[in-house]
Amino acid sequence: MNFVKTKLNAGLYFVATPIGTARDITLRALDVLASADVVAAEDTRSLRRLMEIHGIPPEGRRIQAYHDHSGAGAREKILDALRDGKSVAYASEAGMPLIADPGYDLGRQASEAGFMVTCAPGPSAALTALTLAGLPTDAFFFAGFLPNATGARKARIEALRDIPGTLVFYESPKRLAACLSDMADVLGGDRQVAICRELTKKFEEVRRGTLAQLASDYESTTVKGEVVLLVDRSHSPSVNESDVDQALKDALESHSVRDAADLVAQMYKLPRRPIYQKALKLGKG
Ligand code: SAM
Repeated sequence: MNFVKTKLNAGLYFVATPIGTARDITLRALDVLASADVVAAEDTRSLRRLMEIHGIPPEGRRIQAYHDHSGAGAREKILDALRDGKSVAYASEAGMPLIADPGYDLGRQASEAGFMVTCAPGPSAALTALTLAGLPTDAFFFAGFLPNATGARKARIEALRDIPGTLVFYESPKRLAACLSDMADVLGGDRQVAICRELTKKFEEVRRGTLAQLASDYESTTVKGEVVLLVDRSHSPSVNESDVDQALKDALESHSVRDAADLVAQMYKLPRRPIYQKALKLGKG
């Protein structure tokens, strides 16, 4: 038996669960799951299965379903248990709760109401991927899932373009190719990327390359499983906006908007799309 049943203090315990291999759970997480008065989960079936694997008996406790979108009723039930002085364990389907997963509303309301809120931490796909990607980890930005529609996705990528750290995205395998291609358009093809797939599972894989290479490799590849996509920060020297404007104005005197944008984007090693938009504006002026 890997867990110890103890009397827990009243409060909310966020519990991290594995992102693949079932044994990637901490001993403390098992203790909390075994000992909490109330157990709640985003996905009751997967938590029941995990508890079975680790030999934790339900002991009359029915796992309650909770998702931030399940509404105030489900949240009130958990808050009621806290008001009754109970200990409540909450796990999302995989990894750390609240990290692209439910738990935010629950944690905020529980702490605002003055209850103890703590966490039995554990694996998360974002940190596991950062450890394996081979990209700098001194500073990183977790950007979660990008929007599904190309326009909104490109706008979001554009907003993240100059962040001085490694960008970390969660992505569906179905959208990986489209996402890489949008990133290459907006950020330029030279940036280094890592695709971390099926982490901690049998077919774990890390692929590294430039955005241009991987966008082309994945164009006609069917990807399966779960994916984290990491993108290096920009290494182009910061360019003075007014120099770019002047170069565009000069180029527009003898070139079309399209050619002027290509020329200046190449000259300053900048992604073409924002330069093209600038050239369009200047061309109209
Ligand atoms: N809470 C989780 C965490 O802490 O990582 C994330 C949950 S989010 C709903 C699910 C996404 O996380 C997947 O679509 C994928 O992008 C990423 N992910 C989860 N497990 C993964 C794994 N084993 N390998 C690669 N990516 C994973």
